[in-house]
Amino acid sequence: MLVALFNDQFVDMVGETTKEEWYLKNKSGKLRCPVCQNRVIPKCGTKKTWHFAHHSFEECDGIHEGETDYHLLGKKGLFRWVTQMKGKTILEYYIRDIKQRPDLFLKENQHAIEFQCATITPEDLSKRISGYQSQKIASDWIFGMKRIKQKGPDLYVMNSSDLSAAKKDSNGHLYLNYYCPLKEQFFLLRNIIPLSQKKVAAHGHAFSAKQCCDVQWLSRTFSNLETHNLNHIILWKKQKTTWRTTAFKNISPAVMYIKKVLYFNHHSLTLFPSIAGIPTTNFYHIETSPYLWQTYILFLMEKLPLSLFSTCFIEKEFQRLLDKRIFQTRDFPYLKESWRDAVENYLSYLVDHHLLEKVSVGTYRKLQHVHYPKTLDEALKLDEIFSEKS
Ligand SMILES: [Zn+2]
Repeated sequence: MLVALFNDQFVDMVGETTKEEWYLKNKSGKLRCPVCQNRVIPKCGTKKTWHFAHHSFEECDGIHEGETDYHLLGKKGLFRWVTQMKGKTILEYYIRDIKQRPDLFLKENQHAIEFQCATITPEDLSKRISGYQSQKIASDWIFGMKRIKQKGPDLYVMNSSDLSAAKKDSNGHLYLNYYCPLKEQFFLLRNIIPLSQKKVAAHGHAFSAKQCCDVQWLSRTFSNLETHNLNHIILWKKQKTTWRTTAFKNISPAVMYIKKVLYFNHHSLTLFPSIAGIPTTNFYHIETSPYLWQTYILFLMEKLPLSLFSTCFIEKEFQRLLDKRIFQTRDFPYLKESWRDAVENYLSYLVDHHLLEKVSVGTYRKLQHVHYPKTLDEALKLDEIFSEKS
């Protein structure tokens, strides 16, 4: 941690205090942890960013032990970045009511900023965000640049749990923010489209911390370049081909289930309908690949004895598979939509493509049979047509 108490006054490791001064303060025995009040010692070595460490391994709610140098350095860099702006910023502010200690706290805006370098589970992330919300505190997560790797034009690999911290911009596109403490640079990831558990298509924009002159930059949107959108279409098409050509060896519960269902109805997963596997609005709320759950919706529609059906019927069937952990959802604590919106939006897509007709709210009528391609060649040709349409 970078903050301690000395004679009940806050002191920190981001100022001008020298090593000798810290050791004098330490000798007096008055350096304490602001959270648990236990003694802390200043660590002023040459290898790691200067910081305070607890004297012993007592239980502390503000535990920041084992912080990597990358994290300490980033926290320091981000603190310098926000202090250039108006308003008071507090480093490692401890909010006792919720036992949370954001890396940075912008007092006037009641805004917490976390610099996340270690993996955080979606459950923990959700808990911390709702902790802030209960105190009417806005929050933002900035991830360490080490947590993302570029694999090609507009193609990135990231930790799947980080995606949970995504917010939506004014155009309804997912975004995340990264920071590199070594380069003192922000990396703003925009228009994120998850392709698989770890792969995403997205547009990255790098800026030095100096260029980003206020906190609003964290939610900044950018006008899309044509090439970017073209890359998204190409990456998606490639992903769809991968789904078709690897389905035979994939043994995930969702794949096994859909394969079985199709097999007993004389279809193969490799030749799933081209109108499935579409990045429709909110599709990413379901973590299971869209070619699987959308194929399943099409299958359910085919099997209906009547041409009329309700969204409820589809949702109930999805809930059953979610309970059995055959299908998986993704949690986005900042977003109000859910997997139900993903289902509803896909049904709307089918209406737009004249497969369904919307009779009333939550009721649809089948208009056409679902077409299953006969060969891989035909499937790929049809995928091409649908990638241009969506
Ligand atoms: Zn402590």
